[in-house]
Amino acid sequence: MKALVANFSLGREFLDRLKSKLGRSGIRQQSGGLSISLVEIPQPRLISQDWVRIRTIMSGISDMDEGMIVSHEPPPYASFLTFPFVPGNENLGIVTDVGDDVDDIEPGERAVVDPVLACRVRGVEPSCISCSRGEPSACRNFAEGVPGPGIMIGACRDTSGGWGDYFVAHRSQVRIVPPAMESSEAILIPEFSRAVRAVLQHPPAAGDSVVVVGAGSLGLLTLSALRLLGYEVDVLLVGEHPLDPELGRTVGASEVIAGYAPGATYEEVAGLLGGEVYYPEAGRITMRGGADLVYETTGRGGNIEDAINFTGEGKRLVLMGMSHPGVIDVGLLRFKGVRLEATLFSGVEYVDGGYTTTFDLAVDLASRCGLPSENLITHSFRLEEHAQAFGTLTDRAVNGAIKVVFHHVV
Ligand SMILES: [Zn+2]
Repeated sequence: MKALVANFSLGREFLDRLKSKLGRSGIRQQSGGLSISLVEIPQPRLISQDWVRIRTIMSGISDMDEGMIVSHEPPPYASFLTFPFVPGNENLGIVTDVGDDVDDIEPGERAVVDPVLACRVRGVEPSCISCSRGEPSACRNFAEGVPGPGIMIGACRDTSGGWGDYFVAHRSQVRIVPPAMESSEAILIPEFSRAVRAVLQHPPAAGDSVVVVGAGSLGLLTLSALRLLGYEVDVLLVGEHPLDPELGRTVGASEVIAGYAPGATYEEVAGLLGGEVYYPEAGRITMRGGADLVYETTGRGGNIEDAINFTGEGKRLVLMGMSHPGVIDVGLLRFKGVRLEATLFSGVEYVDGGYTTTFDLAVDLASRCGLPSENLITHSFRLEEHAQAFGTLTDRAVNGAIKVVFHHVV
């Protein structure tokens, strides 16, 4: 099969370490030595009889992919990466083969996949304490059982990922897509599930002022999640890059500030939230006052510091994005007494008097209410065009890219 394969060159690593004198910091710049190439490789084998093989229709470039592969930042899960692997953790495809123990999924069905490779998927019993309480994103066993080490499909040597023609998934990770749902909508479900998780785990109270930092796909899907889950609070969307304000409002924002200019942006945010901006002789400007609840969806260091500034004293900041954070001035947290929370993938939710998974809920919400795929998916490329795809993300301030996906020929 054809696949974009991420590999790790020791020669390049050595050069990178020399260049950045990393011997002193003790940080292995794994991603600095990471190469991506389009090659022919064997299809991934079924890990066991309760796994399925899926032919990829579409695979998103997630913030995790972008941080590691486009921006060459070492990911926080680098210790669980084994090489070579096929990236792609936001995946839609057609089931082609099922193991003997799979009786609820048929070849030919269209499926989206929860990518997390936690205890249940790995056959680890008893489950770790995180999985037991419905938080597989914090699983203790990402290096135990089978498949081999990796936190998710698309970052594990044995499963392949959506940047290849085929990948494999445990039956518990697979959700059949309703026939009426467009593929362009279904491909957003893995990221939408992250948004639903963040909102349900850290919901606004009635009357709260809410800010979403980041007008990329995760930010816009967080707005969708807030509205589709019925929260009628005021939500201010603050985007780093220019964005059509009407798009922000269509998705659910009450106000939109897009196109970042530090002083002007802070003044606008402060004006809307009743805060006050202070300008130092040297260093970063700061804001006192702010929102009751801020969702930071980019994961970039400067944006996280902005998000802390936009959070009111003693209020909540939820970190959702997974790009590389770089250096963050944690002193800002202390000065405002901000309460920091974080979410990543899906988990178990308690809604309407019962338990369900975030992923099931995301499929159900998308099926019943729809997702704004026509606005969010701005660019689609073949695997052969991967250099253009990565370049599109790098230049998103110019080209307005929001969600970039790879599409396969099936
Ligand atoms: Zn676990």
